Amino acid sequence: MTTSHLQLTTLVGDLPQVDVQTARGLQAMGLRCVADLLMHLPSRWDRMRHGRTVEQLLDLAGADTLPREIVELTGELVSVRPGFRRRTPTEAMLDDGTGVITLTFFNQPWMARKLQVGTTITATGEPRVHRGDLQMTNPKIGRAAHEPDLLEPPSTGLELHPVYPASEAMPSAVIGRVVHGVLDAATALLEDHLAAPWRERLNLVGLADAYRHLHRPEHEDDIPPARRRLAFDELLLLQIGVAMRKHVRERTLKAPPLPVTLEIVSRIEARLPFAMTKAQQRVLGEIANDLSKACPMNRLLQGDVGSGKTAVAVGAMLLAVAAEAQAVLVAPTELLAEQHMKTMQNMLGDSKVRFELLSGSVKPATRRVLLERLREGDIDMLVGTHALFSEGVVFNELALAVIDEQHRFGVHQRATLRSKGRGEHDRPHQLVMTATPIPRTLSVSWFGDLDVSIIDERPPGRKGIRTRHVSPRDVSGVYTELATRAAQGKQAWIVVPVIDESPAGLTNLQQHLEALQHGELRALRLAAMHGRLPAADRDAVMDRFRARELDVLVCTTVIEVGVDVPNASMIVIENADRFGLAQLHQLRGRVGRGDEAGICVLVADPQTEDGQARLDAMVDTDDGFRIAERDLAIRGVGELFGTKQSGMPPFRVADLARDLALLRLARSEADALISADPDLSGEAHALLRRRLLKAHGKWMGLGDVG
Ligand code: ADP
Ligand code: MG
Repeated sequence: MTTSHLQLTTLVGDLPQVDVQTARGLQAMGLRCVADLLMHLPSRWDRMRHGRTVEQLLDLAGADTLPREIVELTGELVSVRPGFRRRTPTEAMLDDGTGVITLTFFNQPWMARKLQVGTTITATGEPRVHRGDLQMTNPKIGRAAHEPDLLEPPSTGLELHPVYPASEAMPSAVIGRVVHGVLDAATALLEDHLAAPWRERLNLVGLADAYRHLHRPEHEDDIPPARRRLAFDELLLLQIGVAMRKHVRERTLKAPPLPVTLEIVSRIEARLPFAMTKAQQRVLGEIANDLSKACPMNRLLQGDVGSGKTAVAVGAMLLAVAAEAQAVLVAPTELLAEQHMKTMQNMLGDSKVRFELLSGSVKPATRRVLLERLREGDIDMLVGTHALFSEGVVFNELALAVIDEQHRFGVHQRATLRSKGRGEHDRPHQLVMTATPIPRTLSVSWFGDLDVSIIDERPPGRKGIRTRHVSPRDVSGVYTELATRAAQGKQAWIVVPVIDESPAGLTNLQQHLEALQHGELRALRLAAMHGRLPAADRDAVMDRFRARELDVLVCTTVIEVGVDVPNASMIVIENADRFGLAQLHQLRGRVGRGDEAGICVLVADPQTEDGQARLDAMVDTDDGFRIAERDLAIRGVGELFGTKQSGMPPFRVADLARDLALLRLARSEADALISADPDLSGEAHALLRRRLLKAHGKWMGLGDVG
């Protein structure tokens, strides 16, 4: 095949310059066709400078302006000192006629034999200065093509070498060769979904140029505009999807408008065992306002762990019930659903409101009756877990769906709940809650078409949480402290990473419980809590813990989200370096919920830098917002916002931490576009529409949009 027959869909195996083995290697990396090759962008560009001399480099270093670039030096080896085993490196001195540079070779014992004093060689690598000496570590060594010509120094051009994400079997250089073999022919085939006038207005380069400049930059200045174009594309497509969904929700979908009066609100507030904080009142007001409209609410309630989201959720559900409709609350774990059920029992036990719990542990016979009552409208409020998403769960008049700890659910699950409205175009109002604090600009664009309410105030009387990091060697002091506190009636959580089996020396629940019960905590009442306990046992243990008949629960991360026992004021987390930062913050949120200051002890001997960084972040602050920022720095945006569960494709180029201005631009462009052409049916938008559906159609459910 000649390049004139090349298509973007041509398989890598059919390219003339690609042999079978290379094709296999490329396929293993997910690079199946020419388009995949184009989209496999370099992760960086090595800067290769021609014509530098040792003298120049020493001058630059002396002026503190030695740039990070790779140079090729040609000269004579004037000395070679062999290394000793792996401990000391082989060192050689190269004289290029203007000065001397030290070449250092780690882990290459054979080098000493290869390097002969008196021969002329080339050394390619990144020069550094160490104590005034010019050095190069592990340079590439080559035979000199010619003697260095000092009379006529070569021109000092800069070459940029793309470095591709590679694998051991498929090094960057091979990928680069294949990509460059098709680059011109392939980019010539690209159709740009942004028309020239649009690009000019936004100062964006063309699609083909963007790819060409990233794969083969001629100049360093080529790279940023190329990157900007591709990042903009990613953000634009996402924002168009968001704008489309919003348009559909506002124009074609209906929700039952719920009349809300001040009297109803104050009756609800009177049922709470405490006075709402100003923030809780404000947020409930925002929700009430949304509920009174015929357009389905789509609101994110954000508040740090312990900020009191549950009270707001129950308040909102009661607003629906007061309007004689139904409401549902979904939690990610049975333990949390059971707790929400208890909260409602305490608040509403003496009222006429009919509420039930539906989880996977409900017996089939009970479940049948419950579903029947739900369909008949004999249940006002339903609390449950994933079990609620199943088809058999049919409401009589569902007006409000609340999703607690939304990051634990996928977009599809939220969509399933939405479809439980009455008719084809009827949607329940939806409230999703999260403790993950996200900068407003990001959350709106990330979660799409969402309004955001924030609880930015803690309930009164909170004394904060003191966090410290303790080595496993010193843990016995921690348990002595815990025992002393227990003698004063203060309860505690102990968290371990696994239940019984113990891979890689992790503390396991059963053994740990036994050791403590016979050791430091022998005077205390201990019990286990984990996901494999039958529901009835779990319930019984939690009841005894709440009733203070137990001092300590030794548990797995089942208690990570939402669990609320205000008298438990100390938490010890074993193998703490094994948990993610967001997870540690959630776990810590189990304490500091009452009048007592919380104590959080992280027991760990971190083996990695990341592990250490997470523990440091936890010790430094108990502010969820700052934790999220640290998490962002350690893990990157995608994981933090739970996009893995959402099904959203990861960004290849855009970086939300860096591209905020571009995001805003994409957003306003998308809004303008969708108000002019809501389903992109205009002929000029056909290509854009195809690319949108390909990127986001499925996970955003845009299929039913157009
Ligand atoms: P989260 O936002 O983490 O879901 P919860 O709703 O579980 O927090 O509330 C945490 C604790 O604070 C609970 O024990 C709850 O009863 C209590 N609480 C919530 N709001 C208030 C308030 N306004 N005054 C006093 N205590 C409150
Ligand atoms: Mg909660």
